[in-house]
Amino acid sequence: MEITRESIRRDLRNLGVVEGDVVLVRAGLKAVGVVDQANFLDALLDAVEPRGTVASLAFTRGGLAWQASKISPYTLDSVSYAGALPNMMIAHPHSHRSLHPQCSIVAIGKHAQQLTDGHGPHSRAYEPVRKLIALKAKMLLVGCVSSSPGFTTVHLAEADLGLHRRRIAPWLAISRYVDEHGVIHTFYRTDPGLCSKPFWKFYAAYVKSGHLTTGLVGKAYSICAPAAECYAIEREILANNKRFAVCDSADCVVCNALRWDRIHRWPAFLLGRLLRNRTH
Ligand SMILES: [Zn+2]
Repeated sequence: MEITRESIRRDLRNLGVVEGDVVLVRAGLKAVGVVDQANFLDALLDAVEPRGTVASLAFTRGGLAWQASKISPYTLDSVSYAGALPNMMIAHPHSHRSLHPQCSIVAIGKHAQQLTDGHGPHSRAYEPVRKLIALKAKMLLVGCVSSSPGFTTVHLAEADLGLHRRRIAPWLAISRYVDEHGVIHTFYRTDPGLCSKPFWKFYAAYVKSGHLTTGLVGKAYSICAPAAECYAIEREILANNKRFAVCDSADCVVCNALRWDRIHRWPAFLLGRLLRNRTH
């Protein structure tokens, strides 16, 4: 069956996205099978209009501290590494984007300005997620359920529990940004996110609570759940087990070398790296 703007809108409706919703969307658009990717954003807006809001993560990379002069300063036009959807939204004439140099969000619709206002270089990275929770937003993953798993509410739960303090040397990765007077500043992040690869481990708890909706959007397996309930579930799990969201990969730098509560992994991690380099 042909995938059109209308068929995507119907698929989103079946997932539970309705008029007036506030939705934070992360999407792998190639998995949807859309010929014209703009159809996807239009269908999202169709699904929540009127009075709805579509938001996405428009994160941008920093660089290592000693490469500062080579890092392009963040501006509202900076390209996001988070895929085609946020970059389409950045280019949209009615979008708002926040000023956080690494974790900006972009939004279109009724609450777009409210979600992005006040989120800048001096804010905590995941505060827009708190606003999403207050707005009873839904979290939507389209086509990236396993390739880029999990909801961004987990990062807020980690930060609220102080787990970001377990990250070693967060200041190693910096960004630069331009202030309202045109002056370039260096941005040092104090609340880095931990590894997100194991966020799929929360999926079972969402299912058990009865809050997760699943379905296809185009050809892409997709999930949707309410932000407030997800945050409560994640926070409780992490409060009881602070290493729940550690991945099992022997190659993961964050989980094996950059967490204070995992420094016992250093010898095996370094030895593994050494042996791999020798065989390559
Ligand atoms: Zn990891």
